[in-house]
Amino acid sequence: MISIDNYDFKGKRALVRVDFNVPLDDKGQVTDDTRIRAAVPTIKKVLAEGGSVILMSHMGRPKKNPDPKYSLEQIVPAVEKNLGVKVAFAGDCMGDKAAEMAKALKPGEVLLLENLRFYAEEEGKPRGLADDATKEEKDAAKKALKEGPQKEFVKKLASYGDCYVNDAFGTAHRKHASTYLIAKYFPNDKMFGYLMEREVKAIAAVMENPARPFCAIIGGSKVSSKIGVIKALIEKCDSIVIGGGMTYTFAAAQGGKVGNSICEPDMFPVALEILELAKQKGVKLVMSPDALIADDFSQNANTKTAPANNIPDGWEGVDIADQGKKAFREHILGCKTILWNGPVGVFEIDKFATGSKEVALAIAEATKNGAYSLIGGGDSVACVNKFGLADQVSYISTGGGALLEYIEFGDLPGVAAIRD
Ligand code: AMP
Repeated sequence: MISIDNYDFKGKRALVRVDFNVPLDDKGQVTDDTRIRAAVPTIKKVLAEGGSVILMSHMGRPKKNPDPKYSLEQIVPAVEKNLGVKVAFAGDCMGDKAAEMAKALKPGEVLLLENLRFYAEEEGKPRGLADDATKEEKDAAKKALKEGPQKEFVKKLASYGDCYVNDAFGTAHRKHASTYLIAKYFPNDKMFGYLMEREVKAIAAVMENPARPFCAIIGGSKVSSKIGVIKALIEKCDSIVIGGGMTYTFAAAQGGKVGNSICEPDMFPVALEILELAKQKGVKLVMSPDALIADDFSQNANTKTAPANNIPDGWEGVDIADQGKKAFREHILGCKTILWNGPVGVFEIDKFATGSKEVALAIAEATKNGAYSLIGGGDSVACVNKFGLADQVSYISTGGGALLEYIEFGDLPGVAAIRD
């Protein structure tokens, strides 16, 4: 596999897929440029080696072309500020102007293409179907899009560059034109950017040969969105700490009373299957015996503590309570590899955030004692940042969905397309 450090970029135009899906305020100003900053080392490397850069990204979920609310033109000043060079904007991804601007690029220059998702071809999802379209009609439209326009789209994008660099870990779980299909046009000139390289290494450190005991802390709101990853982790971990809203589906599936807590009755069989699977594999499942319960989903709510499986009607479990905090902390401190995805309570409301804070503090302490800790997923990363602990963990992943799918399937389309 080619590495960005060994590739000769001199005089070459590098097509760099980045994840500039950044939040904007209502004036179109970037409110958090973390994702732009994350791509800077890769872009600077190409420029420093005498290459030029064509940046491709998506932003949001536009449903038409053009859609000014999602235009990447709005982020040009933020990209220029971070890179310290002028950034030309193509105004499109496909038109003659984009092709001409790409062709005219000189070493050291940067061109940003318009939002890839202005085109249905990027995701391969047809648009404009009638609301009552049948499954057959939907499938036929998808097939027609993939076999015709999408192929043309990929070919045209590929024609702009001499090499392809994928630095968009956040979308590496998508089989899209710019993250997957395009790679085949560059059999000898495709590589990961620095961010992708780091992400892949960090996940491998945890999933391939982790120091033991290896514990995963899985929180968040629902069992349904984490089933696959929990099952995969049962094969890899020594223990799984389960927190957050999904606690109550597990409690109710075993006959507990969960009041108004978030609960997915259709997931009861899956919850019981997970409990059984963990037992068979000898994987310890750690759950909080108690819950902080609230009579409202707000900072002004009345709160008290109850057993996690005996919550009165009119009250809902919003965080772990004292016994859970103690149990989670002691467990985490005994581990050598720690993966954390999903808060163990409604951390956005300060009153319900103390459990997630305790988890973040315990991970920081375990890391200080020599454990390797990987934090991934928007909300757990937000937690670590909220409590000022970002520099006290081993690695913070930029991918939420991508990280979970990597763990679940052991690979990602965007990673495989570069490697194979
Ligand atoms: P996820 O995207 O599945 O990782 O879920 C993250 C969300 O789960 C956050 O917005 C939390 O507020 C929410 N969450 C955590 N614990 C609970 C709970 N006990 N009840 C409802 N939502 C929760």
